[in-house]
Amino acid sequence: MSRRRQIYEGKAKILYEGPEPGTIIQYFKDDATAFNAQKKGTINGKGVINNRISEFVFTRLSHIGIPTHFIRRLNMREQLVRQVEIIPLEVVVRNVAAGSLSKRLGIEEGEPLPHTLIEYYYKDDALGDPLIAEEHIACFGWASNEEMQDMSSMAIRINDFMCGMFAAVGIRLVDFKLEFGRIWDGDYSRVILADEISPDGCRLWDMVTNEKLDKDRFRRDLGGEEDAYQEVARRLGVLQEDGPSEVADIAMHRKLRGKK
Ligand code: 5GP
Repeated sequence: MSRRRQIYEGKAKILYEGPEPGTIIQYFKDDATAFNAQKKGTINGKGVINNRISEFVFTRLSHIGIPTHFIRRLNMREQLVRQVEIIPLEVVVRNVAAGSLSKRLGIEEGEPLPHTLIEYYYKDDALGDPLIAEEHIACFGWASNEEMQDMSSMAIRINDFMCGMFAAVGIRLVDFKLEFGRIWDGDYSRVILADEISPDGCRLWDMVTNEKLDKDRFRRDLGGEEDAYQEVARRLGVLQEDGPSEVADIAMHRKLRGKK
């Protein structure tokens, strides 16, 4: 097996140089973190499921005309994506009050919002990804006005599509986080959807029981996170057909890559 150059290791993914210029391989880990990595753990099989769910969602989004970095899934834990210059923003879309919004403004979790909210957070671990205003983005040049327009209109379209997609399988899309990146063509750049869309970065509640089917199970010590991720994959029809023996763990993965 040929060795690949590791570009970056994040909390839930490892990025490797891809086979062709301008491509990257995203490896999905089972590692889970919360509260700016103050809480760490593992959700068995999460990487395999998130790889599948993200493939499923990105493929469908591309069918409705959303440009994304996704090229193809390579195996159980890896997908080939386009290399982008990540825009240092987390774009959070909210339909129902929950999480930091509820905490910050004292709005009860589960309260439907009168209209969809888009919030921006500055991607900086050392600062704990602070909430920012569009004014800050313009002031510090993190994204241009045109890029902001593109990101917000894509976020709304993605939300509309995903609300329907999840509602069809009995899941309420409470909120989610998106990341975008730039791709360059000479002097011109355009913004495309990057990162992943999975229960790691979405709040997904069962429509009937309000049971949480997302990373809040881990964040809030509710237990049953493996089952919850499996349930989302099962409802979307993307449950892995391969056996658990193929769910390579990170130690084995590193060994195969020749790393300690
Ligand atoms: P909140 O701001 O309420 O904590 O999060 C809002 C939504 O964005 C939730 O669906 C949450 O999963 C997602 N989100 C916000 N920040 C992050 C992050 O740093 N990592 C991940 N995986 N999701 C995030």
